[in-house]
Amino acid sequence: MLHWLRDHRRRAILQDPFPDGWRRILVESVLHYSFLDDDEKNHLEQLIQVFIAEKKFEGCNGLEVTDEIRVVIAAEACMLVLGLPHDLYRGLISLLIYPSSVVVPPSRMGVFTQGPLVERPEIAISGQAFLHGPVILVWDEAKRAARHPERGHNVVYHEFAHLLDMSDGVADGTPVLHGRDQYRTWAQVFSKEFIALRQASKKGKKTFLDPYGALNEAEFFAVATEFFFDKPVQMQKKHKALYDVLAGFYLQDTAGRERRYNRMMQV
Ligand SMILES: [Zn+2]
Repeated sequence: MLHWLRDHRRRAILQDPFPDGWRRILVESVLHYSFLDDDEKNHLEQLIQVFIAEKKFEGCNGLEVTDEIRVVIAAEACMLVLGLPHDLYRGLISLLIYPSSVVVPPSRMGVFTQGPLVERPEIAISGQAFLHGPVILVWDEAKRAARHPERGHNVVYHEFAHLLDMSDGVADGTPVLHGRDQYRTWAQVFSKEFIALRQASKKGKKTFLDPYGALNEAEFFAVATEFFFDKPVQMQKKHKALYDVLAGFYLQDTAGRERRYNRMMQV
């Protein structure tokens, strides 16, 4: 069983208290942090602390990496694994952060966030994830997404969903699930939803899920993950079966959390 705190170096990192300045950044810049209950907040802060100590953040194209950049990106990467047995992205060593959208040369190993690689050899991307390599992220996109999850796009959730998907060695839209029954349900629900999105987007119909998810199964999982975290209440209404399998995988009730937060804001 994976357990991220099995590692004594990670436990040692947690001897230091979580910096107040980082908590201020979470409150001001990561809306989903405010959705969490106290236990979840505490758990997320521990994950962030280890993530930041362990992973290398490299600023590209002149970007200076600040605490805000580290904390916002780490928070969102860690949000995905908040309920999971996990190893805190053990294989991930570096994150390359660009100030704004970047044109990268084509690569066979990456999973792109925009456009089929074969048709557009050089494309502007807002993120990219590699099986045995860095995660590339664009800071202005990541920053906006953290403050405005209602837009339904989050490059950090997207790229880290690819990493979870690839944790079994392949980017096929199916991460390591929690049991045989789950694989069966997952395959049924995902193939049905993926085909429906493909058909609708081919016909140019407006869809709830971003049609970019129709590109292939890996992109479908990454896009579905973005919506599961960013628009969970609507997803539960419009794509209940998909919401349910994702909740069964991530072991988080994001819709319940969003409803609780909305009620809290009304009083
Ligand atoms: Zn992608």
